Amino acid sequence: MNKFYVTTAIDYTNDVIHIGHSYQKLLADALARYHRLIGDQTFFLTGTDEHGQKVEKSAKEKGIEPKTFVDKIAEADKKEWSALNISFDRFFRTTDEDHVKFCQEFYLRSKASGDIYLSKYNGLYCEGCEAFVDEEECQFHPNKKPQKIEEENYFFRLSKYQNFLKKYIEEHAEFVVPESKRQEILAFIRRGLRDFSVSRKNVSWGIPVPDDPRHTIYVWFDALINYLTYGVEENCWPADVHILGKDNQRFHAIYWPAMLKSAGYELPKTILVHDFISLNGQKVSKSLGNVILPSELVKKYGVDGTRYFFLRYGPLNNDVDITLEKITDVYNSDLANGLGNLIARVAKLCERTSPQRSTLNAQYAKNKFIEEFRFDEALKEIWTWISELDQQIEKDKPWKLEGNDLRKVLAGYRESILKIAVALQPFLPKTSEKILAQFKGPEIRSGAPLFPRIK
Ligand SMILES: [Zn+2]
Repeated sequence: MNKFYVTTAIDYTNDVIHIGHSYQKLLADALARYHRLIGDQTFFLTGTDEHGQKVEKSAKEKGIEPKTFVDKIAEADKKEWSALNISFDRFFRTTDEDHVKFCQEFYLRSKASGDIYLSKYNGLYCEGCEAFVDEEECQFHPNKKPQKIEEENYFFRLSKYQNFLKKYIEEHAEFVVPESKRQEILAFIRRGLRDFSVSRKNVSWGIPVPDDPRHTIYVWFDALINYLTYGVEENCWPADVHILGKDNQRFHAIYWPAMLKSAGYELPKTILVHDFISLNGQKVSKSLGNVILPSELVKKYGVDGTRYFFLRYGPLNNDVDITLEKITDVYNSDLANGLGNLIARVAKLCERTSPQRSTLNAQYAKNKFIEEFRFDEALKEIWTWISELDQQIEKDKPWKLEGNDLRKVLAGYRESILKIAVALQPFLPKTSEKILAQFKGPEIRSGAPLFPRIK
């Protein structure tokens, strides 16, 4: 049996996630559902990144212990993902015991390779990124100036892996997708890689450095290892795909493979990087007060209405600005009119004469666009089948047919509907299930509208 292992970035727990975080979960979910459908043994990991200075600070502001604080956030995040029907196999928390132990072992393996040494850091730190930065201004946190800090840190010898990374990423086009992001990564590597801190001295909310507990392991070093903790436990490493936003691409495409190489593990096969969502022309952020929770969209558009919009029109290769008007328009045109109408129409026709039974063809599930991570194109293709079937019905005029002629065209329609339903499974699992239940027969009956129109 083929195995398939997909991960999302784990969300930072200084606050509850919002729609900006949903996109990568939906991509990973569609991919995991697709691989389960074609019979692969599938592992899907998501979770929360719970250590670090920002979390410590947020907990302090609320006057509670960091662990109590992150417990609440992790529960709230899980609720949001279940509203979107995200089918993860484990919700990983970096405070989980197995991870703490594994992370320390990883650190020691890397140290044994001669890649960790004690030195002094003197430079800038962006608290928003929880990262040491070179630039005076952080492009992801324009409102938060990076702070000058000087402290004793353990460093990871990233510079040693400069040539390895350059060669590897040049020779493996599939390692960073899309190609534009691979070029950005290569350009960054060619400018020269500097060693980075892997410990903090004045941050107590973290995993202790095993052989020097005055330090805690730097939150990024700790967080990245989550993929491997699970992968080794489940015997599914290396990961097939890590899915993440562009703000995390350097950590995943540069730091992470160097860390793995150092500790003696295989590299993941693909790092899939997506762009950002903005809302009414603004970044989605708590400080701007425009946060929408995934569950709020689900209340309005239903779980599959929400999933469809993001999977079809989300920021796969470009930043995308969304408005509620746009989601409503897409919902009404593609789902209420497009898919919903077609299903109602064919069910009504089939009520007159039950067409011949057909068997579900597993081949319908195969989709080259999903294999190439083109989720938008995969859905576009299904929507061409929807309009082709609409046109076919107009051409056949089944309302004028009777007897065998009628039965023959209806059997064809039914086959097309089953094909559409199977192909929809990874994207709109509940809708697919409803259509399959309605059309598997032997009798086909009209049902309630799949997507009632929204004003
Ligand atoms: Zn930043």
